Formats: sequence, structure tokens, C-alpha cells
Amino acid sequence: MKVYIDGKYYEKEEACISVFDHGLLYGDGVFEGIRIYNDKVFKLGEHLVRLYQSAKAILLNIPMTIEQMQKKVEEVVRVNKKRDGYIRLVVTRGRGDLGLDPDKCAKASVIIIVADIALYPSEYYTKGIAIITSSSRRLPVDGLDPRIKSLNYLNNIMAKIEAKQAGCLEAVMLNKEGYVAECTGDNIFIIKAGELYTPTTYQGALDGITRATVLDLAATLAVPCHTRTLSRYDLYNADECFLTGSGAEVIPVTAIDGRKMGDGKPGSVTRKLLAAFRQFIVAD
Ligand code: PMP
Repeated sequence: MKVYIDGKYYEKEEACISVFDHGLLYGDGVFEGIRIYNDKVFKLGEHLVRLYQSAKAILLNIPMTIEQMQKKVEEVVRVNKKRDGYIRLVVTRGRGDLGLDPDKCAKASVIIIVADIALYPSEYYTKGIAIITSSSRRLPVDGLDPRIKSLNYLNNIMAKIEAKQAGCLEAVMLNKEGYVAECTGDNIFIIKAGELYTPTTYQGALDGITRATVLDLAATLAVPCHTRTLSRYDLYNADECFLTGSGAEVIPVTAIDGRKMGDGKPGSVTRKLLAAFRQFIVAD
């Protein structure tokens, strides 16, 4: 594996950053997790727009244009000869001193890692997964806009720990008002009476690229879609539920906090969308 850091390639074991990097010291930076399918980087343009918008929102100057970044990401994929896999693209504030002051960081650091993806076992996609609601809340929207994909994931990690302690893979995170935001690394959708619902970004959801893809696919399948406020009551009384993310793709949920979804099996709309998503990623 060849890891790209600030203009040079390093073997995995030698790929290091400074202990004074503000990404490490403060989680000061932004990132993307991107898939490679069939030799092509999936939705690279959309991921780069989100990365650059996240960076702009936190006043982080990425030291290359979006076009240069696109070429660089594609180059790192080529260098690593990866036809299917996962890209972690990270931009940190760079090396500074021990204080918070971002002006002490002369230049942002760009890190591109191309790796294999650890896929969930395929039976999860046919049987579905059980999830819980965590006590760790999504950061308040007025504290940090959820559309910023920053390196600060500590409350998501706390929620993930809670999920694992409960024997689950994922946890629903509520916002500070108690409405559903998303999961620790995935967006959440429900289906009720044949219609699709997902929380809005202003309720604390990341503007997920897989979420947008699924909303488009649902529209082509004539499934009515709504982005709106959802409570736990809505989740518990939904007919179907699934999660979306670059890593998880589309994964059915069959129980939430011990409440069975529908008949406890992935529902028909979820299965249709999962099939459409799988077709789309090879065709795109
Ligand atoms: N929410 C969070 C908190 C995430 O970290 C991610 C990405 N892993 C998602 C949702 C899904 O976003 P995307 O479909 O763009 O990967």
C-alpha cells in the first residue's frame, strides 16, 4: 500500500504525520470516505464538493484546486492498482504548536489512503440488522453544522461503543431536541405506507452522498420521498427501515430498541432500493 501525504508516497508502515498536527491535537480537519467500484471512483465529484465546502466552512485552505485534487485521488488509486476498494481522503489544519491558534499551522496537510474495504457480512443485507438509540446525541446544529464532515467524531464513537455494548452494529443518534438525526456513520431512512422518509440536514443529518443517490433512485422507482422531522415514535411504527453510507451502502434494519420492524424481515421497498443501488454502482 502506498499512502500519499503532501506530495510524496510512503509505505503503510512509514506513513506518519507530526504530533503537532492540529488534526491529531484537536480534530481540526475534514475528511471523506469514498468507494471505488469497477475501476471507477464512485461519485468523486460529489465527495470533492462536500470536502471543499466543509473546508470552506471551517476556514481551512486546501492547498490544491478541486481539479488538482480529483487528479491526485485518481492517481493514488492507480498507483495502488485498486479496482474495488475504499479511499480515505483527509485534510488536516497541518502542523502548528500546542495552542489552538490555526494561524500557527502554516499549511494544511493532504492525506490519501487507498485500502480494501471491510464489508459487512452479506447475510446482514439479506436478514437485516438490529440497532439501538444511543444516549450520545448528535452535535447541536448551532454548535457545528452537520454538513461539515469534520474529524471530530467523538460523540459518534461514544454512540458506537453503546451500540457494540448492546450487541449491535449501529446506533441511532438523536439531536438535542430528541428528534432522529442519523446513525454513527450512516444516514437513516424509514418507509411508511409505501413512502420514504429521512431526517433533514438541519435536524442533524450529514448530507450523505449515498442518501442522495437513494433519494434519486427512489424517485425513479416512483416511491414518494420526504425529508422531514422524525421522532423515535416514527421509527418504531415504520413498516421498514434501512441505513445508507459509502461503507454500508444500503443495509436493512429489522429491529430498533427491541421493536421489530414490520414482520422482522427486510421489507419490499428496501429490497427494491438495495437492488437498484447495486445495479446503479456497476452501471454508473
Ligand atoms: N453520517 C455520518 C455521520 C457519516 O460519517 C457518514 C459517512 N460515513 C454518513 C452519514 C453517510 O454519508 P455518505 O453516504 O456520504 O458516505
